[in-house]
Amino acid sequence: MKFSNGIQNKGRAPTFDRRRYGGFWFGTLIFGIAVIAAANMKGQNTETTGSQVVDSASTAKEIQVQGRIVCLAEAMHNLYRADLPANHEHLYGFETTEGVFYTLLRTDLSKALFVDERLHQKILIITGRTFPKTHLLEAIRLQSLHDGVVHDLYYYCDTCAIRAAAPGDCVCCQAPVELIEKPITSD
Ligand SMILES: [Zn+2]
Ligand SMILES: [Zn+2]
Repeated sequence: MKFSNGIQNKGRAPTFDRRRYGGFWFGTLIFGIAVIAAANMKGQNTETTGSQVVDSASTAKEIQVQGRIVCLAEAMHNLYRADLPANHEHLYGFETTEGVFYTLLRTDLSKALFVDERLHQKILIITGRTFPKTHLLEAIRLQSLHDGVVHDLYYYCDTCAIRAAAPGDCVCCQAPVELIEKPITSD
């Protein structure tokens, strides 16, 4: 009996083994699907996190701040003894009248705040956006305040009647544009 069983087993062995291997491959397949599913879920989680980042970026706050342009390196040196190299490059930012500091994003519009030192003498009102978890300020509108009157700040070429955001040569006639402070009238 044992012998014949042995033969029978032997005879069946290939089939049995195929089933076993079949089961093994099936198991591997299931495992593979599980891994892919897990990866997909992870991917979805990453996407969710990603879209949350996009969501919070879209909630960038519009603010209006009054103050002046300062060198942040000097301000931090004066306030907190931050290291100030002897020949430092000015790091221009904005200090509000309440003493809140903002780092300015350099854009086509804000360029004037960095390059035109006349603006460093003025009380400015910057309308712009600040971004979640930062004190970065993206200027959208530049105004100055003197004698209690708000003025729009821009550059202008009289000859061509062309307005520019920053000092430099007129895009049309190449003559230097002029800094204009135009009082805002309430009509
Ligand atoms: Zn400086
Ligand atoms: Zn011009």
